[in-house]
Amino acid sequence: MAINFNKAEFVLSSVKAETFIRDGKPQVTFAGRSNVGKSSVINRLLGRKNFARVGATPGKTSQINYFSIDGKIYFTDLPGYGYAKVSNVERERWDDLINSYFEADRSVCLLVQLLDSRHAPSADDLQMLEYLHYHRIPFVAALTKGDKLKKSEMAACKEEFEKICAPYGCRAVVLTSAENGLGCDELRALLEASMAGE
Ligand code: GDP
Repeated sequence: MAINFNKAEFVLSSVKAETFIRDGKPQVTFAGRSNVGKSSVINRLLGRKNFARVGATPGKTSQINYFSIDGKIYFTDLPGYGYAKVSNVERERWDDLINSYFEADRSVCLLVQLLDSRHAPSADDLQMLEYLHYHRIPFVAALTKGDKLKKSEMAACKEEFEKICAPYGCRAVVLTSAENGLGCDELRALLEASMAGE
């Protein structure tokens, strides 16, 4: 289904299951470590600046943000994980929120797992991949900050991540950059295909 990604509006932030959106429209859900570049990629996909908040205080965004795209789907932005300074209580809160999101929501048509292209996945990233695999959540990996790689490193980087992610059921790995738009057309095409149930 063709989606006009430029037609986006913020709907609401939710901190508890009671206010999750469950209206049956498909949701594309974005997950990743704090600072991985998740907000920047969302902004780039939507052709906007400062829409999803870039550079929000790490560990302080413990809410799920919903954006309506073209009235057809939601972009659902999960709070970033893996910020070293959060307390155990905050960590548990994150776990509870994410668990209740996936338990409640059967309309996730695709999850975009953001991973930093320059670093091996962290222990938290691997835990997230395991979670997605265990719960059979369909996902693709978007490698962020691809503009920081040399051209000559790109193919090997993508291959490396394909090897890491494949055992978890990852459907595709896309090298992206919010800086120069690398991979964003490919990612948009994957989102549209997932809505069509492909
Ligand atoms: P989030 O915490 O995952 O939402 O990450 P942000 O989108 O706030 O980005 C974290 C930092 O990385 C910010 O300083 C961004 O400017 C920077 N950043 C994000 N995406 C890119 C990118 O594609 N290229 C480069 N060079 N920097 C990026």
